[in-house]
Amino acid sequence: VVKALVHPDDAAGLIEAVRHSIATGEPYSMKYRLRRADGVYRWVDGRAEPLRDTSGAIVQWYAISIDIDEEMRTQQALHERERSLFQLVETLPIMIDCAGPDGEPIYRSRQLSEFLGYGLESLQATGKSRLSGTLDSGVHPDDVEGVKKHYAHSLATGEPYARKHRLRRFDGEYRWVDTRAAPMRNTDGAIVQWNVTCLDIDREVKAQEELRIAQENLARASQAASMAELSASIAHEVNQPLAAIVANSHACHRWLSTEPANLERAKVTAERIIRDANSAADVISRIRALFRHAPQAKLPEDINNLVGEVCRLMADQLAAKDVRIETGLAPDLPAIMLDGVQMQQVIVNLIRNGIDAMDTVFDRARTLQITSGREGSDAIRVEVRDAGTGFMDSDRAFDPFFTTKQHGMGMGLVICRSIIESHGGRLWVANNETGGATVGFTLPVAATDGT
Ligand code: ADP
Repeated sequence: VVKALVHPDDAAGLIEAVRHSIATGEPYSMKYRLRRADGVYRWVDGRAEPLRDTSGAIVQWYAISIDIDEEMRTQQALHERERSLFQLVETLPIMIDCAGPDGEPIYRSRQLSEFLGYGLESLQATGKSRLSGTLDSGVHPDDVEGVKKHYAHSLATGEPYARKHRLRRFDGEYRWVDTRAAPMRNTDGAIVQWNVTCLDIDREVKAQEELRIAQENLARASQAASMAELSASIAHEVNQPLAAIVANSHACHRWLSTEPANLERAKVTAERIIRDANSAADVISRIRALFRHAPQAKLPEDINNLVGEVCRLMADQLAAKDVRIETGLAPDLPAIMLDGVQMQQVIVNLIRNGIDAMDTVFDRARTLQITSGREGSDAIRVEVRDAGTGFMDSDRAFDPFFTTKQHGMGMGLVICRSIIESHGGRLWVANNETGGATVGFTLPVAATDGT
């Protein structure tokens, strides 16, 4: 009977269970497929319990079977769905992590476990929470503070999280990853889980860094080249008249030394000296003109916008040198008539000097403070304050070609000052009492043109 009615795959198990119950008197419960009259197999839940007499001997077995076909199919479909979702998560080409509302990880995809070299289970023993265990051992020591701070902020506010940082791979290599987390909420809006993705972007970051270094080297090389060219042409142009001046001075001396002195000849030679000296002076003023900027139309601009724009432009350089900008920009500053390109050049130069000055700083935060505000009733003031080495010789900082840097040109501050002065403002430098230097400038609010 069993063979004819029960599905061939379930029959052996059922017979075994029934035999076991009969032999031992234990009740049985089995799920199996039973053939209906129309030949269709349906899942049933079959159970049997023995009825015993007072002596405990089995008199009769009560057996029931309930049709659970619908339930089984729904369950199977659910299992199938769960399996496919799980597979989806495990095969997505990204590392995935899920955390509870408090940020404690509750699930970690195979790819993430493989990257880290350990699963969630092994964190239990450390005594730390799984979250800080993962962050402390995985995130680069220089990044871990920022990661913790921002993650805590997201956990506290429910704001999505996104950050690029270095993460330690199983082999000890730190690789750049892009981590993002978003909260999953229940129907009441309460956060039930954080879903986190983590993408290895190491190659991209390294490529970008190499590109930046290549660009920097190129800029430096062309600066050095133009510097060398410039010096050669200055030397060439100035040497000629200088040589002639020396020769003519000797000649002049000789005409005056003869007995009697040949005043006529001496006069002619002195005139030549004057001519050559003037031509040397011309060369110098032509070179100065090179550094003077072609006057551009000045337009009303918001200095805070300019500062913001430059900071954005320099974001990569700042990040590469680990320098953080803190701005304290006064709102509602009046627009200033200025040449935007030149003023950008000034701000870029001051920021770059600040970055350079903090290059050897390791014992404190490399922070660059940029502030703006009013200076009296008719001017505004901008200051760039760094935590660097300070000026070694602030008197010489404005000497053309004075530089303490290996690849410096020593023209930055000279040019900045001339630009600010051509706008009717003033530029100064000072060392901070607490270390580092501040470079500031003023710009008049009224449309003046100092040139
Ligand atoms: P460069 O940057 O090419 O050297 P600059 O004219 O911009 O030319 O600067 C001249 C010199 O002034 C620098 O070499 C450096 O010694 C000093 N200097 C400029 N800015 C700073 C600063 N923020 N902190 C300390 N020293 C500075």
